[in-house]
Amino acid sequence: SDHQLVYPKSPAHMDWTTYFPAFVADTDPITTAQPAETSLSNATNLYPRKLTKEVEVVDIGCGFGGLLVALAPALPDTLILGMEIRTSVAEYVQHRIAALRTQNPGTDLYQNISCLRANTMKFLPNFFRKGQLTKAFICFPDPHFKHRKHKARIVSTTLNSEYAYALRPGGIVYTITDVEDLHNWMVQHLETHPIFERISEEEQEADPCVEIMKTETEESKKVGRNKGQKFVALFRRLEDPPW
Ligand code: SAM
Repeated sequence: SDHQLVYPKSPAHMDWTTYFPAFVADTDPITTAQPAETSLSNATNLYPRKLTKEVEVVDIGCGFGGLLVALAPALPDTLILGMEIRTSVAEYVQHRIAALRTQNPGTDLYQNISCLRANTMKFLPNFFRKGQLTKAFICFPDPHFKHRKHKARIVSTTLNSEYAYALRPGGIVYTITDVEDLHNWMVQHLETHPIFERISEEEQEADPCVEIMKTETEESKKVGRNKGQKFVALFRRLEDPPW
């Protein structure tokens, strides 16, 4: 359950080094600036070693990692993180990525993707600072059909505000589902949120990530095999409104 999940106290306290070992910065964590409230005697409060770049793309509820694996060569200079709540599935993705890295020795291939076990409905701001992300993918989220289960949906007014916080202005939320009712729900909740605007179909279809999202996630493959429909909607994070 969630009780076993460990969350960093703040994004600065998140240790990404085991997730992206090829991007660990060449600085000693002890000599980097310390938060004001910490003391050197309290080692647990020290900032962990930093990466040379930050995670910029997240796959919320990444499942078995098909999107991550396909995005890795498409966005080679970007760190991409899958977040998955099921322990066994998150571990499977971690092993999948480790194997891909081993199969591509001496290259940077697949060094830019990783998977973290987390409940994205909780503590997202503990992992990402304001404006850190450029893209957030929400692919085939669980539909939670029953009305009383709607609060478990991964798109909601409250969660959209968290996505808005983590995304920088111009950042994009990508959504796809085969459930039309859920598509309408996500469009309604994101379109009416003051910090998001829907992206035109023309711009949507010109974005190479959309084709990847439509074909490469495990769920999109399943829907494709069953000749099901795929409903796509993209939303741009706008500038913060003036005070
Ligand atoms: N995105 C993948 C795809 O398109 O193949 C997986 C889709 S699957 C239907 C939904 C996934 O979201 C499941 O793997 C589930 O465990 C995960 N999930 C559900 N709620 C979550 C949460 N609060 N935090 C992280 N992952 C979650």
